[in-house]
Amino acid sequence: MDNLNIFWHNGKVEYKDRCKHLKQKGMVLWFTGLSGSGKSTIAVQVEKELYKKGFVTYLLDGDNVRYGLNSNLGFSNEDREENIRRIAEVSALFKDAGLITLVSFISPFRKSREFAKQKIGSITFVEIYVKADVETCAKRDPKGLYKKVKKGVIKNFTGISSPYEEPENPDILLDTRELSVEEAANKVIKFVLNKQR
Ligand code: ADP
Repeated sequence: MDNLNIFWHNGKVEYKDRCKHLKQKGMVLWFTGLSGSGKSTIAVQVEKELYKKGFVTYLLDGDNVRYGLNSNLGFSNEDREENIRRIAEVSALFKDAGLITLVSFISPFRKSREFAKQKIGSITFVEIYVKADVETCAKRDPKGLYKKVKKGVIKNFTGISSPYEEPENPDILLDTRELSVEEAANKVIKFVLNKQR
């Protein structure tokens, strides 16, 4: 796109002012993992607990965003990248607004997550790998998607017919075959409280 006639306009209220106002540091908790690994369940629990502690939060959930902002995107590799590119941009704005932003998206590609990290800033970007093997996820199958994949109704399904690139060095690893929802959420909350000091 031709950006020659577009200029960045600076405001007079900055990120640090907004953080001071809200008495917190804006950050992004980026939950990645297979469908059914537990991203949304844990993110909802983390948000509830942070809210109770007085933090200002916002949860961007993969499915919810696909209803609106990203409703024109499918599940080809190209569309998945565009899906994450938009979310990275939106969550960078939410963070800049001073919010603790929780992002729950499969985000299967390392390149896209790296892009998000760069957009958001490595200090305020927290990569959380919600880990469960595909057999466990298929057994849970909270949305009945794995059944549909088996019947051949869904193509390009992450972990089966579309790749998932595991995080090599996540900030937080949550193995949901070993941790309960509460234990996993508490691990994240502890990390956040440390960062907020
Ligand atoms: P995702 O957002 O990753 O697609 P969901 O959170 O929608 O996954 O679904 C995960 C399912 O697995 C839920 O039905 C949840 O109750 C169940 N579950 C079982 N054990 C755990 C756990 N330890 N952590 C998170 N979810 C779990």
